[in-house]
Amino acid sequence: MAYLIVAKNCTSCAACEPECPNKAITEQGKIFVIDPAKCTECIGFYDEPQCVAVCPIDRTCIVNLDYPRYQPEAQLQAEAQTQA
Ligand code: SF4
Repeated sequence: MAYLIVAKNCTSCAACEPECPNKAITEQGKIFVIDPAKCTECIGFYDEPQCVAVCPIDRTCIVNLDYPRYQPEAQLQAEAQTQA
């Protein structure tokens, strides 16, 4: 359920912060970080993660493998019904 910003790659350009529809990105020190509790992978807002789309450095905004992929509530309910 989240993307993360690879700290060593972040140049603190701030391109990502205003693009996040969930206000999940904040500046902390000299880099930007993503709050995994707020990130929805842009699902429901855009076809692709906006932080990835605007970041000028490749492989800086990446999937956070410490969290399961985000699933909207409606999708979870549909899957539960098909398994019942
Ligand atoms: Fe924000 Fe989307 Fe990036 Fe998540 S993937 S931090 S919701 S811009």
